[in-house]
Amino acid sequence: MRALLCDLTGAEDATLVNNNAAAVLLVLNTVAGGREAVVSRGELIEIGGAFRMPDIMARAGARLVEVGTTNRTHAKDYRAALGPQTGVILKVHTSNYRIQGFTAEVGAAELVEIADAAGVVLMNDLGSGTLVDLSRWGLAREPTVREAVAQGAGVVTFSGDKLLGGPQAGIIIGRRDEVELCRHHPLARATRIDKLSLAGLEATLALYRDPELAREQIPVLSMLTASHELLARRAQALAQATGGELVETVALVGGGALPLLELPGPAVALDGPAQLLARALRSGEPAVVGRIEHDRLLLDPRTLTDAEVTEVGRAVRTAMG
Ligand SMILES: *Cc1c(COP(=O)(O)O)cnc(C)c1O
Repeated sequence: MRALLCDLTGAEDATLVNNNAAAVLLVLNTVAGGREAVVSRGELIEIGGAFRMPDIMARAGARLVEVGTTNRTHAKDYRAALGPQTGVILKVHTSNYRIQGFTAEVGAAELVEIADAAGVVLMNDLGSGTLVDLSRWGLAREPTVREAVAQGAGVVTFSGDKLLGGPQAGIIIGRRDEVELCRHHPLARATRIDKLSLAGLEATLALYRDPELAREQIPVLSMLTASHELLARRAQALAQATGGELVETVALVGGGALPLLELPGPAVALDGPAQLLARALRSGEPAVVGRIEHDRLLLDPRTLTDAEVTEVGRAVRTAMG
């Protein structure tokens, strides 16, 4: 597994924990426990639930040193914040939001230089890390994990279950010394990944040896990159099965990844009281989740297989009584 991760990412070493929140906690405590962690004000994220970067830092025993402003942070801001107490410079990829307009940020490659000169570690939390350049399939470019490693970060962390499309997992890769310290940290045991997830992750990662195979076999990738032709065929079948109307719509990705990406495609609009219908479908068996636009309930075929189209047709007919 370690060899596979190193192979796919170019990292020297790798270790796994049960999710990326745990990875961030473990790495921060390892490299900055009792010391300072320097981070841009534009990257103090909340990912939902109780995961807020400032809180996680506090729990990891690192003192947060904020630099720059919400929209603009410069190299000199980081340099001015470095001192004998600094343990880490933290770069956080804004996986689930974007700051647009009059903005400036310091790239990871430049931060590595600044960190190296000061003798501290650069940690790059990618959040929704992707192993393939999604632009090869016409999607927005996201920095790949391999690129983050090549920029020289001491540690890179990312989720196994966002864009990667595997089971819940937190992946820690980077330089041998830093990863080794994480692996032998007492928290590593408390945040250990379970064996089933490990097996699932290994199977998912193996598919990435061939990006086209990954695209075919990993649901999140095949859904994100589904052709309009395929979606139109499913939408047509769904419209027929439900008596709904075919409409063109724009979907969003969700799941804390690719926040601005729009996915145009066909959907089926159902007639009737949208809220009531939505609730009936959500609480049915199988549960069907649509979305409401202009007071109509839309069903998007992007996340359905052909077999599921038939099942959803049945669920809709039951819900509509
Ligand atoms: C999602 C996310 C996390 C937490 O990852 P989980 O695997 O959901 O625990 C941490 N950092 C960033 C930047 C994220 O986007």
